[in-house]
Amino acid sequence: MRVGTVKEIKNHEYRVGLTPESVRELAAAGQEVWVETGAGLGIGADDAAYVAAGGTIIATAAEIFAQCEMVVKVKEPQPVERAQLRQGQILYTYLHLAPDPEQTADLVKSGVTAIAYETVTGEGNTLPLLKPMSQVAGRMAIQAGATALEKAHGGRGVLLGGVPGVLPAKVVVIGGGVVGFNAAQMAVGLGADVTILDRDPNVLERLDSHFVGRARTLFSGRAALASEVAEADLVIGAVLVPGAAAPKLVTREMLGTMRQGAVLVDVAIDQGGCFETSRATTHADPTYVVDGVVHYCVANMPGAVARTSTYALNNVTLPHALRIAKLGWRAALAANPHLAAGLNVHEGKVTYEAVARDLGYDY
Ligand code: NAD
Repeated sequence: MRVGTVKEIKNHEYRVGLTPESVRELAAAGQEVWVETGAGLGIGADDAAYVAAGGTIIATAAEIFAQCEMVVKVKEPQPVERAQLRQGQILYTYLHLAPDPEQTADLVKSGVTAIAYETVTGEGNTLPLLKPMSQVAGRMAIQAGATALEKAHGGRGVLLGGVPGVLPAKVVVIGGGVVGFNAAQMAVGLGADVTILDRDPNVLERLDSHFVGRARTLFSGRAALASEVAEADLVIGAVLVPGAAAPKLVTREMLGTMRQGAVLVDVAIDQGGCFETSRATTHADPTYVVDGVVHYCVANMPGAVARTSTYALNNVTLPHALRIAKLGWRAALAANPHLAAGLNVHEGKVTYEAVARDLGYDY
């Protein structure tokens, strides 16, 4: 199969669909791989690296869209890209169609076969192609919070780990899933005083046995949340209620009880945020202050560490890409129900039930 990857054109997107290492794997499996010139520059991979891996450098995205049987990307196709998709072609990327009727309509119109990373499932009701980005965001949340706690960034001038003779910072993580676990791991590693709140007893049990006393766990009730937040130096918002907007767990009123210069990092901002005072920010201008509390609410945190994120993403997307290229999409999906769950649009039809229901398509 001829597989292609293009330079991402969404604002401030530096990741790329295929690393040179992935190109090497595809080429070794006998596939032809086309790479748009400069596609990997955002992760420090130049054209020569792709050529050395067995790829062919192509001058324009248009040639790739016109002649590749499968296009592997990171972000949802932008309007100019959607106009070039066609029937019989496979698009393999993040799509997030439910809140995006315009994109969905364009994909339906194009006839493309679109497989969305975010709905590919894994063992035990998991979403393995989303997980690495949550891991990245969780780990980054502590870096971002530590920086925001510095005086020059509006914070209260506290070092997360403290020093001998000075207490460490108090870090409160709300939500102990993938983001929360990774944030807690980083905070514990830096020597902070860490508490994780969740509502799921199984999650609390898992965290408790993992951290064995190096982080505390607490059921996320209103009173517990209010008192933890009031005493925190750094609060990480990491909740997810599947299919719903994030609950506003930290209210404006609660900010008044917090320490001046404390920091909120709302990782759940892509679902609307779990702090009432959250609004999405960008890497160019990541923080703002409300009632003396610094807010960091960047919606695409993994984009800042494009190289790590691209490699983490390729680790989980490549095995399926190899299967699709080898077997063709129909046989690959028939052989693997987890990959089949990724099919969102095919030949003018929405093939993912939740998207069809939300956007009013026949299913
Ligand atoms: P997850 O499903 O693994 O974990 C969410 C956790 O929240 C679960 O353990 C759940 O029990 C818990 N929870 C639900 N309601 C709660 C409540 N009221 N109090 C405490 N805990 C509660 O999800 P995840 O992968 O960790 O993702 C968390 C959020 O981070 C999602 O909104 C996700 O989209 C977002 N995210 C954002 C970025 C970014 O760049 N900003 C990147 C990756 C993920």
